[in-house]
Amino acid sequence: MCDDSFLSDLPSSLKSDKPKIVDEFEGKIKSIDALFCLEEGHYWICAKVESVSCFGDWFYISCKKCGKKVDKLNNQFYCSGCQNFDGFGSMRYMLKLEVFNGTSTAELILWDKECAHIMQKKALEVNGAEVISANIVPKEIEQCIAVKNFLFKIVLRNEDEFLSMKSYNVKKVVTDVDIIKKHSANLLSNLEASKKALSYEDMFLEECNNLSQIVEEVTRTL
Ligand SMILES: [Zn+2]
Repeated sequence: MCDDSFLSDLPSSLKSDKPKIVDEFEGKIKSIDALFCLEEGHYWICAKVESVSCFGDWFYISCKKCGKKVDKLNNQFYCSGCQNFDGFGSMRYMLKLEVFNGTSTAELILWDKECAHIMQKKALEVNGAEVISANIVPKEIEQCIAVKNFLFKIVLRNEDEFLSMKSYNVKKVVTDVDIIKKHSANLLSNLEASKKALSYEDMFLEECNNLSQIVEEVTRTL
């Protein structure tokens, strides 16, 4: 992939998300568990990113005119929407996140605008983007997104049949630490509780370990 074959099209959303977004989610933040019984619409969730992966590739090349995904043919890009060949295309993010709110997990799909907002750079500017193969999420992306709390505006559609298996499209991400903190009290206490649950599990495993050592000693003396 050659640098000059991409247009620079840094989304205008790479600014602070503070001013207008606050009113939008005031009182509209739901837990992941609650999503299963809600009406179609847009909702916000506050969750921690457990893992960052992708659906095959972490980016795609889009048409500079219509934004559709293009196919690369002989160093040119073909857009089926414009039915046109072009030497230019835009590299765009396309990520899959697994998020956790302390009690439930959900799979989220993040598109270019939202990823660029978190990364504060476009896909082409990711370290080694042009040499890294498409199906491996670059370390820089993982470091920037994983194990962090965000507010996600997701789309809930009734036609999705398998509720437990579906992925939610993300329409907006809030990365502002103060805003997240203000709205993540529930999340933080849930995460804290789940940590405690884990440590009980660890204690149990430790007990099992001790017990097996005792059993081993006893059987040796028999
Ligand atoms: Zn096109």
